[in-house]
Amino acid sequence: MSKQSLKVLFKKKGIKITPQRIAVFEALLNNQNHPRAEDIFEIVEKRFENISKSTVYQILHLLEELGIITRIEIDGVQRYENQLEFHIHIICPKCNEIEDLFSNKIKEFWDLTMEELKIHPINQEIKVYRYCKKCKN
Ligand SMILES: [Zn+2]
Ligand SMILES: [Zn+2]
Repeated sequence: MSKQSLKVLFKKKGIKITPQRIAVFEALLNNQNHPRAEDIFEIVEKRFENISKSTVYQILHLLEELGIITRIEIDGVQRYENQLEFHIHIICPKCNEIEDLFSNKIKEFWDLTMEELKIHPINQEIKVYRYCKKCKN
């Protein structure tokens, strides 16, 4: 989702467009490596010195509720991304590096499986753990 469509959605839902809300969204847009809430806070804090952690967390929660961003949990840590397209997370258990894997083949198979099982997922997360190149040795 672009910044423009975010504004349109906010208007439609009657949500006030504040520079802080836009900044949180932009921080995610510009950091595709599944940042933690704390990372996002640090980015936004550079522009809004007086913003509190809880405000940033509330905005993240709002964006998640609206289905604009998704939250994933890795090693007990909440991370966020604005990639809504179906993908799999390939994770290194040692350094927690996260790679996005997009595969139409897997998506088709997954959708078909859900359909056959009559499951309508409200959220889904597929994780594969493997050691990355750096941690392999
Ligand atoms: Zn690693
Ligand atoms: Zn991802």
